[in-house]
Amino acid sequence: MTRRLDPTTPTDAKTVSVGDPGTGQQAAIAERLRFYRELGIHDFYRRPASVAECAGADQASPAAAEQAEQMHSPALFENDIDSSGPADAPAVDKPAALRLIREDLGECTRCKLHRLGRKQIVFGVGNPDAELMFVGEGPGADEDEQGEPFVGRAGQLLNNMISAMGLRRQDVYIANVVKCRPPQNRTPERDECETCSPFLMRQIATVRSRIIVALGAVAAHNLLGMNDAMAKLRGRIYDFAPHLSREAPERAGFSTKLAVTYHPAYLLRDPRQKKEAWKDLQMVMGYLGLAVPSLRGNQR
Ligand code: URA
Repeated sequence: MTRRLDPTTPTDAKTVSVGDPGTGQQAAIAERLRFYRELGIHDFYRRPASVAECAGADQASPAAAEQAEQMHSPALFENDIDSSGPADAPAVDKPAALRLIREDLGECTRCKLHRLGRKQIVFGVGNPDAELMFVGEGPGADEDEQGEPFVGRAGQLLNNMISAMGLRRQDVYIANVVKCRPPQNRTPERDECETCSPFLMRQIATVRSRIIVALGAVAAHNLLGMNDAMAKLRGRIYDFAPHLSREAPERAGFSTKLAVTYHPAYLLRDPRQKKEAWKDLQMVMGYLGLAVPSLRGNQR
């Protein structure tokens, strides 16, 4: 029997056992459970019966499942609430504003990355009204191929991190410090980051998420203008006001919050740090008012 997991609604605690992953859906659930266990989460919860019934959870049609998924996603991330910022902020057509930034970027040749083998610009993806935004370093080979951030192995892990928060990839907005793949996936250089920065700042100032999560040291250093080690940067929530360029650091008239966590690619290399990353994400969930699934350790 397939059970839908929902770490955000602890109504009826039951441990889910996973049988032979005979279907794609079962395999996906098994993978998700393995990821949760790596984070130290061992207890799972069923959705409330009314939602499960509505979905026909065990033999749901894709449309019904999608409907139930939408019913159950946190109102926080729904499009029909006003998340445009402070009451006096002018209403902005965010998708149009993002399209304009993309148009301004054009077939960018502003820095040397354009002639170092990039296939395409990787702009950003997600909900223009997102309350949570992730910022990574720069596209890798898969992203360069597909034109979307975080679609490779690190992206799969980021998707799992987002799911562990009780959210879906399409609820959040995802962008990178640089929009073009650095050759051999090297770290983007300072001039490349600085050249690309105004476009990221405009994305941030348009989406106006309540909080940004900087994934890894490159994103953290560039956004915060601090060069401290990750261990020092993690574990707190910063005030963050996007500025449009270093030369003209006028603020975009908007400020938000920012937290730092490990880059998913680093977590793939050192999975022991996933628990630390999960602590960072729990802090962010707390800030957003999302229900934090309990860790076994916390229950003792
Ligand atoms: N790493 C990043 O920093 N960004 C991506 O989009 C993919 C991998």
